[in-house]
Amino acid sequence: MARLYDSRRRILVTGGAGFIGSHLIDRLLKRGDEILCVDNLFTGSKRNIDHLAKHPRFEFMRHDVTFPLYVEVDEIYNLACPASPVHYQYDPVQTIKTAVHGAINVLGLAKRLKCKVFQASTSEVYGDASVHPQPESYWGNVNPIGPRSCYDEGKRCAETLFFDYHRQHGLWVKVARIFNTFGPRMHPADGRVVSNFIVQALRGEPITIFGDGSQTRSFCYVDDLVSGMLRLMDTGPEVTGPVNIGNPREVTIRRLAELTTQMTGSGSDIIYRDLPQDDPRHRQPDITLAKRLVGWEPTVTLEAGLQQTIDYFKALLPKVSTNSP
Ligand code: NAD
Ligand code: UDP
Ligand code: UDP
Repeated sequence: MARLYDSRRRILVTGGAGFIGSHLIDRLLKRGDEILCVDNLFTGSKRNIDHLAKHPRFEFMRHDVTFPLYVEVDEIYNLACPASPVHYQYDPVQTIKTAVHGAINVLGLAKRLKCKVFQASTSEVYGDASVHPQPESYWGNVNPIGPRSCYDEGKRCAETLFFDYHRQHGLWVKVARIFNTFGPRMHPADGRVVSNFIVQALRGEPITIFGDGSQTRSFCYVDDLVSGMLRLMDTGPEVTGPVNIGNPREVTIRRLAELTTQMTGSGSDIIYRDLPQDDPRHRQPDITLAKRLVGWEPTVTLEAGLQQTIDYFKALLPKVSTNSP
């Protein structure tokens, strides 16, 4: 709902103090929008939005999306949810509540405001995929009762809710299935593979490969991801998704470890740890739909993105201890 004396778009970003959310907010502000950032700072950090504290078009609200939220905005991006396996498994019940109750509240809000709503879904809806690469038409192979289920099934249920609100209430929804994304502002203790390897390499600690390192992932640089999210949000009402947003270049985790040691010039050893339960063997997005419907594909190479991320952690690490917010 546009306000009386202001034609600027007011955009709600839940999870806006997180890694992806804070980059999205930077881009929306650059575009001229006004931002309401809602976050409970569970995995996010004020450090990610510190530079915006005095920005006249930025507002931060500390709030947990599992509780109702009554605000007036013109568009919503729903990103609130821990994304790293270490963090979403720390309090699995809260994770599924965030995914499901958070989606219900955000959808209720969008229904009242009659506004467009974006959902940050995930490649995890495909689980340990038996189709490779993964197109949106693949229904997935998810263990409903394993340690990853709080996240995987929570995000699957959130997608169901988005499409039920779309069918039942005519809501204008945009669902992106985001594949592994990396870049500056990942938390040094985030636990995901790219930040773990870089932090370990820069500190000269052993690089921890889980399993034998032959499992694969396809890593998207955060700037590319945010461009895809913005483009998807700007498509017409006929495009609801789900649409895969990710970089199709697939690498083994062993190769990622080698690249990281080479690019940091680190003398770190590589050590092997047990592969976590239900860890997907392969993951690679089929982005045919994103190219055709959204007009988007990534442009930043893995090496260029890693360089940016290494430079970020080189500057950050001397200033923080691993667990500091
Ligand atoms: P992140 O952990 O850095 O950000 C998530 C943010 O949500 C944090 O700021 C956290 O404090 C906030 N949050 C968590 N629970 C909340 C709650 N109950 N109420 C309010 N805020 C809450 O992770 P990210 O990588 O930036 O991920 C953002 C979104 O993108 C998540 O929904 C995630 O599932 C999705 N996603 C990310 C990736 C990836 O590779 N980074 C891949 C697929 C999907
Ligand atoms: N809700 C909210 N903000 C709003 C409108 C609704 O947080 O501006 C929440 C509210 O808690 C409700 C949920 O969204 O439980 C779903 O709303 P909906 O209108 O779909 O369902 P109902 O209120 O009929 O249960
Ligand atoms: N991984 C690893 N060492 C680490 C962290 C992760 O080998 O220190 C592996 C993990 O087992 C998985 C892959 O890297 O196979 C990607 O893990 P991440 O947690 O980044 O994301 P997800 O499994 O959710 O794709």
